[in-house]
Amino acid sequence: MKDDDLQKWKDAGSIASKARELGSGMVTEGVTYLEVAETVEAFIVEQGAEVAFPANIAVNDVAAHYTPRPGEKTRFRYGDIVKIDVGAHIDGCIGDTAKTVEVGTTTYSQLILASKRALESAIEVIRGGISLSTIGSIVERTMNSMGFRPIVNLTGHAIERYELHAGISVPNYDDRGREFMPEGTIVAVEPFATTGIGEVKSWKRSNIYRMVRPKGKLKPDQQQALDLVQTDMPHLPFSERWLEKGLPRSEKALKGLVRAGSLYSYPILKEAGGGMVSQWEHTLYVTDKGCKILTY
Ligand code: MN
Ligand code: MN
Repeated sequence: MKDDDLQKWKDAGSIASKARELGSGMVTEGVTYLEVAETVEAFIVEQGAEVAFPANIAVNDVAAHYTPRPGEKTRFRYGDIVKIDVGAHIDGCIGDTAKTVEVGTTTYSQLILASKRALESAIEVIRGGISLSTIGSIVERTMNSMGFRPIVNLTGHAIERYELHAGISVPNYDDRGREFMPEGTIVAVEPFATTGIGEVKSWKRSNIYRMVRPKGKLKPDQQQALDLVQTDMPHLPFSERWLEKGLPRSEKALKGLVRAGSLYSYPILKEAGGGMVSQWEHTLYVTDKGCKILTY
């Protein structure tokens, strides 16, 4: 990779990292999800990057793909365990990072530590040419040794410019696959640990969408929403909240666009056994000798 390109990945990673700390630091009893999401997203823009995807706030048995609706009043409660997963990009170079915090209690410290340690153990061994199932095996063993399970149907992922999930997937268990980590990959590694059965299932539709097909026979409000999406966020996931200024109360139009096949809506992912879930994530740059943490 060219040096000035790598610099953009580093800068985006550094901003994402600060946004993660800002957001997770705000999580206390009584604070709304919306305050955290809006603060994190505004911070990313203030720092000179763009928001790569809506701030994900996943609580307790929800593992991923939850972002608050416009005006949502849900507040953090004593005893919640909260995953804050944020993304910043500069010219499409994305930093994707997450951590887990507990609201007022320490009941799930070990569960939270399990995904953190699994990520640290993975980072220690990642280098160009390592087998992906070896990484998964290390994640799985680290969690099992602490009494937890990895979530097997969530994976890490290579990232390319303007593409959050590109190329290889990094398993969170030994999937016996035969793929290897190419040197030079930008990759997000994200172990999820759970007290449940170790799988997520799709629940309701979230407020997170992505453009899939920019045309179709559409109603005027749908066309207006789609035009906004195409202008402002044609590549990466976005939230209904981001359309509020240009098109207030766009939920109906967005749902219509999902039915018309123009937008994809991400389902909220919940642990299938109702287990509590922790997650930790860093974006890495893989070299021949090891890897560099871009979201440190
Ligand atoms: Mn993430
Ligand atoms: Mn990710």
